[in-house]
Amino acid sequence: MTDWRTQLAEKKVVIVDGAWGTELMNRGMTPQEVPDAWNVDRPEEIYSVALSYVNAGADIILTNTFGGSPLKLAKVGLREKTAEINRLGTEISKKAASSRALVFGSIGPTGELIKPFGAVTETELVKGFAEQAKALAAGGAEGIVIETMMDLAEAKAALRAVKENTFLSVAVTMTFNKAGGNYATLMGVRPDHAAVELEKAGADIVGANCGAGIDLMIEVARIMHRATSLPIWCKPNAGLPELVDGKTLYRESPEKMASRFRELAEAGANMIGGCCGSTPAHIRALVFERNKLITPKA
Ligand SMILES: [Zn+2]
Repeated sequence: MTDWRTQLAEKKVVIVDGAWGTELMNRGMTPQEVPDAWNVDRPEEIYSVALSYVNAGADIILTNTFGGSPLKLAKVGLREKTAEINRLGTEISKKAASSRALVFGSIGPTGELIKPFGAVTETELVKGFAEQAKALAAGGAEGIVIETMMDLAEAKAALRAVKENTFLSVAVTMTFNKAGGNYATLMGVRPDHAAVELEKAGADIVGANCGAGIDLMIEVARIMHRATSLPIWCKPNAGLPELVDGKTLYRESPEKMASRFRELAEAGANMIGGCCGSTPAHIRALVFERNKLITPKA
C-alpha cells in the first residue's frame, strides 16, 4: 500500500470514508450506547462498517475511536479501557482495509475546555491524547486525523500529543458553521486562521469536517486553500441534520454530493469523504467522480 502522499500525487484527489455513527445506528446502536465500546463488544459490526467503505472504494478509512480519548471515556466509566478500545479499533479497520486502503486513526474532541474556561489543563489534554495516539499507532494506524475540533487550543494539544509520541502524519480538521456571512467554529475560530495556525503547529494536512453540507464546505475549502499550501481534507455532512418524528435525517443524496465533487476539488480540497449521514453509496459516488479526474494511462 503506497503512502498517502504518493496516492495524492497519483490520484489527484484521495477519497476518504463516510460516516460511522449513523452507520452504527443502522446496525442497531442506540443513542445511549458508547460507539467506541463496540470495538470490544461488537467487533463484527465495526468490521462490517469498515469493510463497507473499503468496498465502496475509499483510499483511506478511519477507525471507530472518535470518542477514544481517556478524558472522554472517563465520562462513561471506560477510562481504563483506553488502550484496548483504540488498539482494537485500529486492528479492526486494518483487517478490513487489508492492502486496499490506508487506515487513519480518528481522534475527536474531549468535550472539555481548557482552564480558565473549563476544568482541564493543556498538559492534561496532551497527556490524554498521547495515550490514545500511542494505542492507535500500536494498532497499526498509518496516519491520524484529529477531527470535529471547535477549539484551536485543544486541536493543537492533540496535534502535539500525536507528533511527540508517534511518527505518523496528522490531519487536523475543524467544524465550521456560517454565521453572519462568516465561517467560524462554535468557539469562534475562522477557517483561514485555523489553517495558518495548524500548519505552524506542524499539521501535515488541514481541513474541515461535519457542518452543514457540501455547498458550505466548498466555501470553507476555498478559504483554507488560500491560507495554506498543505493538502486540504474535507468531510462534509450529507446536509444539515433534520429531526423528523424523533429521528435524525440527512437529506443530501449521493447524487447531490457527487454533483458538487468537482467544485469542491477545484476549491482546493484534495482529500474528500463524508461526515454525518453519508453512507457507502455516497463514497462510491465520490470515487466515480474522482476517477474521471485521473487520465487513463496510455
Ligand atoms: Zn459529522
